[in-house]
Amino acid sequence: MTTGTAVERLFIAGEWVETNRAHQVYNKYNGELFAQISMAGDQEVDSAVTAAERVLRSTPFAVEHRYQVLMKVAELLTESADEIAAIIAQEGGKPITDARVEVLRSANTFQLAANEARYLTGSMIPSQASPGIGSRMMYTVKKPIGIVCAITPFNFPLNLVSHKVAPALAAGNPIIIKPASDTAVTSLKLCELLEKAGVPKGYVQCLVGSGSTVGERLLKDPRIQLYTFTGSPEVGKHIQQTIGMRKVTLELGSNSATIVHEDAHIQQAAAKLAKMAFAHAGQICISVQRIFLHESIEQEFMQAFLGHVSNLRVGDPLDPLTDVGPMISEKEASRIETWVQESVEQGAKLITGGKRNGSLFQPTVLTGVQKGMKVVDEEVFAPVVSISTYSTIEEAIGLVNDSKYGLQAGVYTKSLSLAHRLPYLLEVGGVIINDTCCFRADHMPYGGVKESGLGKEGPAYAMQEMMETVTVVINLDE
Ligand code: NDP
Repeated sequence: MTTGTAVERLFIAGEWVETNRAHQVYNKYNGELFAQISMAGDQEVDSAVTAAERVLRSTPFAVEHRYQVLMKVAELLTESADEIAAIIAQEGGKPITDARVEVLRSANTFQLAANEARYLTGSMIPSQASPGIGSRMMYTVKKPIGIVCAITPFNFPLNLVSHKVAPALAAGNPIIIKPASDTAVTSLKLCELLEKAGVPKGYVQCLVGSGSTVGERLLKDPRIQLYTFTGSPEVGKHIQQTIGMRKVTLELGSNSATIVHEDAHIQQAAAKLAKMAFAHAGQICISVQRIFLHESIEQEFMQAFLGHVSNLRVGDPLDPLTDVGPMISEKEASRIETWVQESVEQGAKLITGGKRNGSLFQPTVLTGVQKGMKVVDEEVFAPVVSISTYSTIEEAIGLVNDSKYGLQAGVYTKSLSLAHRLPYLLEVGGVIINDTCCFRADHMPYGGVKESGLGKEGPAYAMQEMMETVTVVINLDE
């Protein structure tokens, strides 16, 4: 493989492995070569799964040791925050200020998992609950599920990997990471820190290569017990169809919505929505894509909202003043440009934005949209938001639910009654009152319904998915 830029290797069985095939990672803002990474092939996939299988059988990872390693990773992440944020900004195009927040959130994710490891426990089963059980004592114990395979997307190249690695290790499982090829350097950096923190050899492997080669090969290896995937609904469905009876967690896309009701704090809502509709150029699974305004507040909201949008700075992600960086590729920016043009031809009104310069796409606001337009029905995953009005809350609920997705919804309202009723009425995995649909705390249960996925993340919840529950029954009469 040629040298020149940063040269990265794969991490397998605690060793840094070089191959004779190179994968190029580019700077998403200026298009320059950022890194070259050894690319995995069939042999490396097999070595990684074999290493994971070997440690699972031969090297138990004691709970106290898990705790220490995970806490140490958190400390190392915090110390390296600036360095890793710069990597994320260059290979992922994420504004540096947001990238730094991602690193600190990842440190928190590791701490949360470390703490959960100490409290892993099964539960007592009340044997008297069914008749005729006799003198039997019943309880459950938890044990590691086995080899976990994490397949991750480009948009949070550190924290979404951490949301899989930290709980897998906290639950005592070896893990194989298949990061998005576009942003794989960040995962390898995390592996360096895991190694430094003393993770036992073989408990973590990182394989770089495309989904259609390395990903497919991993899906077909029967030694893997659980797949934890974050990415597009298309790939998620494919994974579920390919892996048969093995377990899977799917965190997929959405066209998330936020309602701003007549009794909302309009100025606050406008400021926050203008930020969260365009954060990371809209490439967040819970990005604000659809805003529903009560008709009585339309004018005041639009004036405030558009004022904030016009202040957003688009440009170099390494500049701390940048709000909106490039999209992951020019191809993606060109895709959304076409979708916006198509919506305008179908009757939508372009209020601002709609222009592209390479992979930079201007923050775009549409009104007059309707079902049948891609910008409404599909996940835009771009800095584009559409705004519609409603007259009754029932109508707004119907608009939010009229989607094949259901990840999270936001609702701005001062009504306590609505705040308590809406979680039962909205078809989503999370309802965020007086904030946007784009809120996530790393310890909360997080995951969607419908085509937005299966299962929950957040270390405590992911760990439940990553452990086997064994029921124990003791007949006390014998
Ligand atoms: P993709 O689905 O394109 O890719 C995700 C991962 O899957 C990558 O590592 C990719 O590899 C891999 N992959 C692709 N094809 C296959 C295959 N046939 N078999 C196995 N693995 C495969 O998603 P993006 O990276 O483009 O991320 C954007 C998507 O992620 C959006 O839909 C977004 O909503 C969703 N997402 C969901 C979140 C949630 O928590 N619900 C959070 C963040 C994002 P490679 O790219 O290297 O080829």
